Amino acid sequence: YGDANQKVDYVFKVVLIGDSAVGKSQILARFARNEFSLDSKATIGVEFQTRTLVIQHKSVKAQIWDTAGQERFSFSLSSTSLQLYLHYTLYRAVTSAYYRGAVGAMLVYDITKRQSFDHIPRWLEELRNHADKNIVIILIGNKSDLENQRQVPTDDAKEFAEKEGLFFLETSALESTNVETAFMTVLTEIFNIVN
Ligand code: GDP
Ligand code: MG
Repeated sequence: YGDANQKVDYVFKVVLIGDSAVGKSQILARFARNEFSLDSKATIGVEFQTRTLVIQHKSVKAQIWDTAGQERFSFSLSSTSLQLYLHYTLYRAVTSAYYRGAVGAMLVYDITKRQSFDHIPRWLEELRNHADKNIVIILIGNKSDLENQRQVPTDDAKEFAEKEGLFFLETSALESTNVETAFMTVLTEIFNIVN
């Protein structure tokens, strides 16, 4: 997991997106530090973590960006037009900085919250409006450990991913299932594109 004194051949920026509380920050904590927390605090602003790994004998530094979710879209109907204007301006500035230079994206929903899956087309549209058109995208259904609370059938997500040309995996940050595979899928695909 250490990054110190390593020669780096590539730096790949990957962004995490999806509704609040789907587990983006815990997926990142699992990948970057092999940690998990059940009382994870809501992400405020934007942060990133890195992990350097080896792909086909080259050292690749993954720079993973994490941000707050749908609250970026929310505002009160009673907001004044100045508040709406400021909100929109701030939204545009944050969004363009977030996606700038990203070569991979992980689009995360929670398999126990149908709404987080129903919002995926919205996130995809934001990606398509702000990110490079060749960005590598994986759809991730997180919290696969909560099978008894499942609201999103695997086949629905698989079908959506195929239709949209996305990779797809279900993960559990808690049990550490498929988290490594999800990142490796995206990073290896990016690696193959640039090589
Ligand atoms: P974010 O808002 O998308 O960054 O979501 P967080 O990473 O903060 O996670 C929200 C909540 O879901 C926290 O209570 C986490 O502990 C929990 N959580 C995250 N991933 C999993 C998972 O794979 N399984 C379960 N059971 N809970 C998870
Ligand atoms: Mg978060």
